[in-house]
Amino acid sequence: MFRHFSAAAAAAAFTLSACAPGAPDAPDAGEINLFTARHYASDAAVYAAFTEETGIRVNVLEAPADQLIERMRAEGARSQADVVITVDAGRLWRADQAGLFQPAPELAETLEAVPANLRHPDGHWFGFASRVRVVVFARDRVNAGEINDFLDVADERWRGRLCVRSSNNVYNQSLLAGLIDAVGAEQAESWAAGVAANIARAPQGGDTDQIRAVAAGECDIAIVNHYYLARLQRASDSADRAVADAVDMVFPSLAGRGAPFNVSGAGLAANAPNRDNALAFLTFLLSETGQRQFAELTNEFPVVAGVTYENDVLDGYPEITPDPVNVNVLGENATAAQRIFDRVGWP
Ligand code: FE
Repeated sequence: MFRHFSAAAAAAAFTLSACAPGAPDAPDAGEINLFTARHYASDAAVYAAFTEETGIRVNVLEAPADQLIERMRAEGARSQADVVITVDAGRLWRADQAGLFQPAPELAETLEAVPANLRHPDGHWFGFASRVRVVVFARDRVNAGEINDFLDVADERWRGRLCVRSSNNVYNQSLLAGLIDAVGAEQAESWAAGVAANIARAPQGGDTDQIRAVAAGECDIAIVNHYYLARLQRASDSADRAVADAVDMVFPSLAGRGAPFNVSGAGLAANAPNRDNALAFLTFLLSETGQRQFAELTNEFPVVAGVTYENDVLDGYPEITPDPVNVNVLGENATAAQRIFDRVGWP
């Protein structure tokens, strides 16, 4: 288990996962220690592109977000982390509350390329790619027009027809946190109660499992993040594409405010021993190359305007109006959201 790593074991882990060291004769451009909770193998391509461009080695420590946060908190000023990456603003907020980030004034100008609502108000972290929570539905049993807003998912007509993962998952917490901001805690609670009543089966698995369950006929609609379906649509495996073909998705608004966007985000670690290299890496995430890679490899939306990429699935989406809320608010409301989930019995 990650949290029981000794310093030596951690050092070994860094060495083992170091990407593409520079050529032996090249001047040593140093390294960064990247703590990431992203679980996408394709991120290695992003790190490799960074190393190729800068000569800076990327030592990757990958672990679930809560473990990363706990470890860094325990290590305090001894932490070797330079950059922290995680997904969902709810987790970025938690990491920030734990004091894991430091503001980077050097990045102020660079960060202006990121929409203000997709970064921490004081620059502690920023979204480098965005995602949206959507509703997937069975093509043969549901019409796209039946769901225009997430509020519709609580409607009685979906009784026993909804698949959604457990409420202890941050994606659902952030969705409800956004709704609390939009309509207040009381109305958000009635919505959550309605949704909980509609659940077809005890929540199990991740977002992909919910999509598979819709395709298999276990339920008719599911709440998921958009890229899970995009990944199935672009899969080389024909069984995965068959699952994708059985379903479609809509981009419902959140109580009329716009679609609930969220981010994958990064920040400069509080004690970053390789500060300059860390800043170079954070800047790279927002570069043309970095932004394009997220759109092409993980089907996330670039946050920097005007970036070009090749992804037929993303290109096929209708124009989506995002909820303008600052995603940091999703973290602020997370505790209230969890309390509501517990009260209404959304497992
Ligand atoms: Fe995910």
